[in-house]
Amino acid sequence: MTASGVHLFDRVSGVNVLLDEVSVPVEQYSRAPRYLSVALTNACELRCGYCYAPKHAAALDRERVLAWAVELDAAGCLGLGFGGGEPTAYRRFAQLCSDIARSTSMAVTFTTHGHRLTPELVDSLRGAVHFARLSVDGVGATYERLRGRPFAAVVRAAGLLDSLAPFGINAVINADTIGELDELAEFAERVGACELLLLPEQPTAATPGISDADGQHLIRWAGTAGTGVRLAISRTGLETALPTAEAIPGELPLDAHMHVDAMGVLRPHAYASTGLPVGGSIVDAVQTLKEMG
Ligand code: SF4
Repeated sequence: MTASGVHLFDRVSGVNVLLDEVSVPVEQYSRAPRYLSVALTNACELRCGYCYAPKHAAALDRERVLAWAVELDAAGCLGLGFGGGEPTAYRRFAQLCSDIARSTSMAVTFTTHGHRLTPELVDSLRGAVHFARLSVDGVGATYERLRGRPFAAVVRAAGLLDSLAPFGINAVINADTIGELDELAEFAERVGACELLLLPEQPTAATPGISDADGQHLIRWAGTAGTGVRLAISRTGLETALPTAEAIPGELPLDAHMHVDAMGVLRPHAYASTGLPVGGSIVDAVQTLKEMG
């Protein structure tokens, strides 16, 4: 419940309903963000040049994450999204997803490079995950150059995810991939994905981020592309030039989404340089971060 009204969400179908004619008293507003992304671990065996995940070893305690999930669920959070690093490299990842799905009503999602997925792991995640995201930066030889893994392997991973839950394709858009937008959309459609999430490359210590020219190209393409999959774009500034839907009218960024890194630091989003270490209660940390602005 928020200033926008009462938000109903079904994690299995993904249906959202906003009852915006209901006026919610301030004391009943949700104390949690609508969605929290969690970097379970910094570990990842790939070496993508544009990766923004810290490279020092760190991982969150499983019991701690489960306790946060229960607390967030009670405070009105609707979904947890696991990333990293690579979340499938996290010890007993499937057990954590299953514990959270059983103990809360939140959607459990994760983003993966796909190269650790096996039929056995997918079986153990069945029923415990409601949406998955597969990172595919470019197709064919471009993918293999950027990710250092065979493209055929990520095609197999897409097949495994398709048997698990609805899934989307995430694609970092930069000088290497800007020329393959049509191919990425065709790939997403062919493997049965329901969404293509475009992630304009963010600047890191090693990379400058997407160029202005490539950003403009992306905007033009998204405005005219007739794809068979839903298009989405990460919040990077470019979305203001695109005809994107406003998920909840009037919703403030910190009410929509926050991020916890693998050191247990709560941040406004994954690229934010500052944050707040979570002490005992994650909902208290959420409130403090909001007060800090
Ligand atoms: S797969 Fe993801 S976490 Fe791993 S190096 Fe590439 S961008 Fe970073």
